[in-house]
Amino acid sequence: MSYDVIVVGAGPAGYVAALRCAQLGLKTACIDAWQDRNGSPVPGGTCLNAGCIPSKALLESSEFYEKIHRNGKLHGISVIDAALDVPALMDRKEAIVRDLTTGIATLFEVNGVEWVAGRARLQPDRQVAVTAHDGKVTVIEAAHVILAPGSTPVAIDAAPLQGDIIVDSTGALAWDSVPGRLGIIGAGVIGLELGSVWRRLGAEVTLLEAQQVFLAMADQQIARTALNLFRQQDLDIHLGALVKSTRVTDGSVTLEYQDADGAHSLEFDRLIVAVGRRPCTDGLASEEAGLLLDEGGFIHVDADCSTSLPGVYAIGDAVRGPMLAHKGSEEGMAVAERIAGQTVEVNYDAIASVIYTQPEIAWVGKTEEALRASGTEFTSGLFPFAASGRARAMQATEGMVKLLSDAASDRVLGVHIIGAHASELIAQAVITMEFGGSSEDIARTVFAHPTLSEALREAALDVDGRAIHVAKTRRS
Ligand code: NAD
Repeated sequence: MSYDVIVVGAGPAGYVAALRCAQLGLKTACIDAWQDRNGSPVPGGTCLNAGCIPSKALLESSEFYEKIHRNGKLHGISVIDAALDVPALMDRKEAIVRDLTTGIATLFEVNGVEWVAGRARLQPDRQVAVTAHDGKVTVIEAAHVILAPGSTPVAIDAAPLQGDIIVDSTGALAWDSVPGRLGIIGAGVIGLELGSVWRRLGAEVTLLEAQQVFLAMADQQIARTALNLFRQQDLDIHLGALVKSTRVTDGSVTLEYQDADGAHSLEFDRLIVAVGRRPCTDGLASEEAGLLLDEGGFIHVDADCSTSLPGVYAIGDAVRGPMLAHKGSEEGMAVAERIAGQTVEVNYDAIASVIYTQPEIAWVGKTEEALRASGTEFTSGLFPFAASGRARAMQATEGMVKLLSDAASDRVLGVHIIGAHASELIAQAVITMEFGGSSEDIARTVFAHPTLSEALREAALDVDGRAIHVAKTRRS
């Protein structure tokens, strides 16, 4: 069988690329090996099946539960008999995932994308061998191939996965009861999000992070604020902690770790390993295909996502850049349009990062540390949510908006938010940066009152010391 485009992978990078190709009139097939727990093939990849969507469903449920317990009284509401039903909570998550993956299958159908269930292996000359789940191998070919194989959790020798006791992020999204003592190796995005879910549901959570610096990729003023807030929430975060070994006995885990004070031992009922993800490129291409990989197994691509092979592109988590669903989707759109002859560019400088804790953390552009390191002259504005009327009404006064702009041109270089709904607020900063806007552009924009968004405007006003609702802002 011959196609205009074969897409390998139906995660947010691959399925978006396939749909865009089909919209552009290209005869497209999309191959994916994912199977649900019943063995049925499902599109959607990690994001829909074992990542963004199920974790957000659990974050929502656990936040709801915590609000009932912790915040009810503040609102004058007494709740009697609020009981937790973890299997029901998991059923809700599963139903959301099912609806969304079914939705993608429907989109494939209505757009004419041929969905092929099985494992793909790239061969020379843009031929792709597909091994179906029954073992049958067929070979298909195309004028263009887009590789979007995604990523998988990194494993470490010190903590091999074991049943439902030592798990990776996938396992921790499917427990049917709340662990008493939960250990997490890695206080990165996944460790913090999953730690938040299970802490809110009642677990005692300890995070062991190898680095001395908390959230090294984030603006450090925001990271310091986050660390204080998370510790107040009883997330027990240990920095500079190197896990040496783990041992499972009688249904619990003994973990040995080393920090500046020496060797320590901790006991947990369950343990999550969340130390990063690596590209899924093992066996993706045959030797003869000659696909060039970079260090760490990432597929080598140029700025346009072209690989070392003519007509073969790669996008998403398996190529350089942040492992973010929206970055992969954008690359998928861009590659589809390039194949169709259009000239498009992905603006990698305006891709937001979000950590879905409570409060949420979101940022786009450069951090203060990066600007200092590059010698860029900048000005900054800051506004605390404690001074926002809407945040007070919502009982969401923690956090701030920090805006960094070029000292000479005033162009916005970075926006960093920690606070309620930061994941939504950051889009305003992304649009500003996409349009090359300045802090003055935001400061001159009329925002609805009372909204959390006003904090962004006040931060922009604060660049020139004009913020209205604070006497004086604190910059560090
Ligand atoms: P991460 O890189 O965010 O965090 C992993 C952490 O583990 C790091 O802080 C690292 O220093 C630490 N670490 C590594 N080895 C260790 C060891 N042996 N002992 C202790 N700590 C160790 O990775 P992640 O949280 O696993 O997430 C993986 C990827 O998935 C990331 O690229 C992330 O962006 C993406 N992701 C994004 C979201 C989101 O956008 N909200 C959510 C989940 C995952």
